[in-house]
Amino acid sequence: MPEASERREMTLQFDPAALAASVTPPTRMMIGGRSVESASGATFATLNPATGEELAQVAEGAQEDIDRAVAAARDAFDNGPWGRMAPADRRNLLKRFALLIEAHADELAVMETLEAGKPIFDSSTIDLPETVACLMWHAELADKVYDLATPSGHGVVSTVVREPIGVVGAVLPWNYPLMMAAWKIGPALAAGNTMVLKPAEQTSMSTIRIAELATEAGLPDGVLNVVPGFGETAGAALGLHPQVDCVGFTGSTEVGRMFLRYSADSNLKRVLLECGGKSPMVVMGDAEDLDKVAANACESIFWNAGQNCSSNSRLLLHKSIADETLDRIDEAMHEWVLGDPLDPETRMGAIIEPSHMEKILSNIEKAMDEGATMRCGGNQTRTESGGWFVEPTIFTDVAPDMTVARDEVFGPVLSVSTFTHADEGIAMANDTDYGLHASVFTSNVRSAHLASRMLRAGTVSVNCYSEGDMTTPFGGYGLSGFGGRDNGVHAHEQYTETKTIWLDLS
Ligand code: NAD
Repeated sequence: MPEASERREMTLQFDPAALAASVTPPTRMMIGGRSVESASGATFATLNPATGEELAQVAEGAQEDIDRAVAAARDAFDNGPWGRMAPADRRNLLKRFALLIEAHADELAVMETLEAGKPIFDSSTIDLPETVACLMWHAELADKVYDLATPSGHGVVSTVVREPIGVVGAVLPWNYPLMMAAWKIGPALAAGNTMVLKPAEQTSMSTIRIAELATEAGLPDGVLNVVPGFGETAGAALGLHPQVDCVGFTGSTEVGRMFLRYSADSNLKRVLLECGGKSPMVVMGDAEDLDKVAANACESIFWNAGQNCSSNSRLLLHKSIADETLDRIDEAMHEWVLGDPLDPETRMGAIIEPSHMEKILSNIEKAMDEGATMRCGGNQTRTESGGWFVEPTIFTDVAPDMTVARDEVFGPVLSVSTFTHADEGIAMANDTDYGLHASVFTSNVRSAHLASRMLRAGTVSVNCYSEGDMTTPFGGYGLSGFGGRDNGVHAHEQYTETKTIWLDLS
């Protein structure tokens, strides 16, 4: 992701509102390289979170559609060319796919903004470029991961080879629809698997569109299938399907647990979970640049209106710099302009749906009931738009046992606590069931090293808020994940099986 300062310089080269008026969102599922209706003919509404208006009726997939899509993926894997073609050919097809997405980036960015309610500035400068970069990076890995010859001595040839697992299901969240799709598609397809994707029911359209582009790019029929629909029906059918060999899931911890049960109750398919978080940002008393701390704290909690699994929703401040840091945050917040997501100046958009907004508002109410001090925000706003918006909200005087310090709010709500000793700050940071991400700010290289080893999280960023990049594995400890990591070579390998080939030469 580009630095905030780099992004500040970027401007959009198209008129989002005009494009939004002309874009025709795709609404049918993609199975076996063909655009089809659901078997039942049922559809469901996709709404624009910024206006509350219906954008389209999308084909509603259920068991029969998942069966059709898995059969197409199975056939493409067992009988098609995909898993057997020269890795360099697979690489070239995936790169062509990525370049087609890039060529349609404006249209796709507008679709993401319309259905997810996120600022067009983010869709255009983060989500689409990252989606393309992810697919390109994994495409390049297709012919660059080597197998092993083992030191088994004379008389045998023993090799360990990585093979595709087979049919991979991906069940996706709504917060970064294309990026999360790319995080699964890139490594799984590059490794030679075929796929069935179930996008979140709130955000199906951009994912359907890229499956159309995959066909246009020349990916063989059945390699990438997309079945929109609800979790309890289409999602569960994919999780329980006996012909699916692996499921990659990104979403809530609660639903993630279900995929482990689905696997146990069906064919012991591999399950990879990327779930929720309640990540801490620890600011030591010797943190040098409090403006930088403030900018990163805001970026972390207000980006995507806080609907971000790795947002640092707990700010833990050393008492000596607490007041000063909060003053700098008050100033930094002016950059987070809340508004119409299609306006290029907007930096904070809408909340995905009314029920989620209500959940955020009830968390805010509970924080007040439990004795936290509201420093700013706290209300629904822009009600005249018909959409669902919540003001950026900050609570101070948050005790570690308050609900706002423990539960994932998944909204623009920052809880601020203070500590006196560095060890106490680290202990507070680790006092969570989650462990996706953590940040520490300090000018002392020794405490930076010690803190980054002591913080229990899949990613620790020092003197910044960062998830790393495409080269670094991303995933969590504890309730934040299970089974693997997205991104990096780790992601590629987790979509492969390990096979030993033992050749007796005697
Ligand atoms: P969610 O768990 O409600 O839904 C995610 C997906 O699961 C959707 O496609 C949904 O249809 C499906 N689903 C829902 N119920 C199901 C069921 N019973 N069986 C099968 N599938 C079902 O999550 P969400 O609200 O879309 O996303 C928000 C959550 O995702 C947050 O907790 C956030 O932290 C997490 N998240 C994690 C990461 C990460 O990489 N760790 C990234 C983004 C989001």
